[in-house]
Amino acid sequence: MQYVIGIDIGGTKIAGALVHRDGQFCSLQQVSTPAQEGPQAVLGATIQLIKSISAVAANEGHEVIGIGIGAAGQINIETGDVTYAVETLPRWTGTRIATPLHEQFGVPVVVDNDVNAMAIAELKYGTGRGFQNSLYVAVGTGVGGALILNGQLWRGTNWSAGELGHMMAVWNGDRVCNCGQAGHLEAYAAGPAMARRYAQLCGLEESTDLRPIVLAAKQGDTIAQDVIVEGARILGTVLSGLVNVFDPQALIIGGGVADLGEFWWMPFQNALRANPLPASKKVQIHLAQLGNNAVLIGAAWLAWEKLI
Ligand SMILES: [Zn+2]
Repeated sequence: MQYVIGIDIGGTKIAGALVHRDGQFCSLQQVSTPAQEGPQAVLGATIQLIKSISAVAANEGHEVIGIGIGAAGQINIETGDVTYAVETLPRWTGTRIATPLHEQFGVPVVVDNDVNAMAIAELKYGTGRGFQNSLYVAVGTGVGGALILNGQLWRGTNWSAGELGHMMAVWNGDRVCNCGQAGHLEAYAAGPAMARRYAQLCGLEESTDLRPIVLAAKQGDTIAQDVIVEGARILGTVLSGLVNVFDPQALIIGGGVADLGEFWWMPFQNALRANPLPASKKVQIHLAQLGNNAVLIGAAWLAWEKLI
């Protein structure tokens, strides 16, 4: 059987699997991202992972006919290079991904932004099916976005479309984003941003782990509840503006923060719907379906699209 290897290169892990044309996958493997060792180490770990998955495919008599990669950062999909990335992956900006992998493995290699890959996976196989116009938002360790317009990814002039985490959310805000600018949405609404805020308000040592705060909020800690409500409201408010600009059929929300439950969802939806314009009142809101593996499934689909 023919497969594409789908790969997800993130700030903490690199995951890969053999992905069939229908989106089903097998032989899922993952390794930690050697982010601090620099981009060549990250590429080296990716190559080792692809070799390992290829060996499984060969053992089982399968053929690998392409590689699809979803990677953190803004990606020029024509060259497969990283045009810009924040320092979650140090020195990642400028890294060539497609060329060295094509030279190594001799099959077509397609590279796109990880949130673009998630959005295409949801469009083809998940909750985005049936929506020709949707805005995909991933809110987890960062805040990312992707635009599906007329059934296709809109990547922008500089491969930067959908980067909603770096929209100004709080004028004169003092919380600093991963990109270095203060006041950006990601500095308020992402999981680690809320964790940092809670630690600051409680006089605790800085932490980026949201889980204990979620637990505290569930047990009635009002500071924890307020921090989560604030992050949710700011995200909802910024997205209501974007929904009014693009007027999509659906807003699809993925990422770990979206799984926090009602005490995040209620203030988020209330803030989104508070805008009086019809688009933010009427837009459908759906939770993403494909979870952690959406990036590699979507990246593989993008490779299949080139192959067939
Ligand atoms: Zn930023």
